Amino acid sequence: MAGMIDAVESYAGQHALEIEIITPIAAGAPPSGPVSDEAFDYIISTICSSARNCDAILLDLHGAMVTKSHDDGEGFLLKRLRKENPNTPIGVGLDMHTNLCPDMVENATLIAGYQTYPHIDTFEVGKRVANALMKVLFEDLKPTMVWNNCPMLPHVMRQGTDDAPNKQLQNRVAELEEKDAILVTLFTGFPHADIYNAGLSVAVVTDNDQAKAEKIRDELLQLAWQEREAFVYQKQTLESSVLRTLQTANSDGTGPIILLDHYDNTASGGTMDTTEVLREILRQELEDVAAFGIYDPEAVQVMVAKGISTEIEIAIGGKLHMDALEVQSKPLLVKGYITHISDGHFTVTGPMGRGTHMNMGQTVILDTGRVQIIIISRHIEPFDLGCFTSLGIDPLKKQFLMLKSRIHYRATFLKIAKSIVECAGVGVCTSDYDQLEFKKVRRPIFPLDTLDSHSFSLAD
Ligand SMILES: [Zn+2]
Repeated sequence: MAGMIDAVESYAGQHALEIEIITPIAAGAPPSGPVSDEAFDYIISTICSSARNCDAILLDLHGAMVTKSHDDGEGFLLKRLRKENPNTPIGVGLDMHTNLCPDMVENATLIAGYQTYPHIDTFEVGKRVANALMKVLFEDLKPTMVWNNCPMLPHVMRQGTDDAPNKQLQNRVAELEEKDAILVTLFTGFPHADIYNAGLSVAVVTDNDQAKAEKIRDELLQLAWQEREAFVYQKQTLESSVLRTLQTANSDGTGPIILLDHYDNTASGGTMDTTEVLREILRQELEDVAAFGIYDPEAVQVMVAKGISTEIEIAIGGKLHMDALEVQSKPLLVKGYITHISDGHFTVTGPMGRGTHMNMGQTVILDTGRVQIIIISRHIEPFDLGCFTSLGIDPLKKQFLMLKSRIHYRATFLKIAKSIVECAGVGVCTSDYDQLEFKKVRRPIFPLDTLDSHSFSLAD
């Protein structure tokens, strides 16, 4: 959104135009269950009533919104906007985890999504979308947009752009956009949303060149399809993963070893209160650990009432029921000293969302002697050092860090870590697809179904 505003203001300045920017609403939330109808109706009504008076519409959306009544929240909004504003250019910035649906493409003038994961190019994508829309409004750009998906659900843990295959795919996307098109996006999708069109898709915008747009789209879909096996996640047991961190601790290298509690990432819908990875860390007696974090506002209140330096035995986490799973987490009984109480506010200094304000809610550190457990009152994924430094913990000096994250932690922690160990705990973004029932996604789809190389043809 900041990138969009910046680009529009710059364009207005360069072309001596007077442009008024109206912001009807800016709203977001850590994902969880479907958005309530009440919240969705309020948000889209606010947008639609402002849009009627505008010459152009720029939307900074996510792209995988499921509401109580609509599997494609963004598509529903765009359809209504297009119906009420048939001739107004609409530009949309999206997340790489967009599950692209026909209503989104058919009712927007142009769309583009992030090309990095962790998402460190959000500002640039906003700028590119806004710049292209300014050219539709004031110059001769005639956007031609095509899209398609292919029957694959890339695993989120295999989507990071620091690694193959998505690194190479996104490099090719950037190259094609630079050379041959206005906007090119390869959306890796968000499998856990389980809607009909979940999964990998491509959208291409050219300047009035349908054939070129289709050629770029088909090349990218074929490249992604060829890499489908590399997008499959190989899981390990929790016990063996935590044991491996102890072995890694004696190897060469500096910096903390990260134990990644990736089944319970709040930005993928996790409750952030599952305790299984922390329990195993305590059971295997790892020392010099800082753990971020356990969401438990009730426990925080009890500890705040006790005050700093008090010794306490308390059950933390395991309180929120996860409807999608049979397996549930359990509260973890821990004993330690309350060593820090904070209001939980800090400003992001790392490359993802730099300058934005984070609010963990009232936050407490409970120190068991071996593990500093950070207990928070609002859901925050740890992708910035501020999660620790704002509480007086220097993550570089710890031997182990436990993080509830999947890929975004890499934005800052990858550079400082000695190694990363992915730990299979419990949580709604489980990497064990046997724990989930996919009801709505189109079938057959890889890797839920066996598909050979002939099972997908672009001609279909
Ligand atoms: Zn994303």
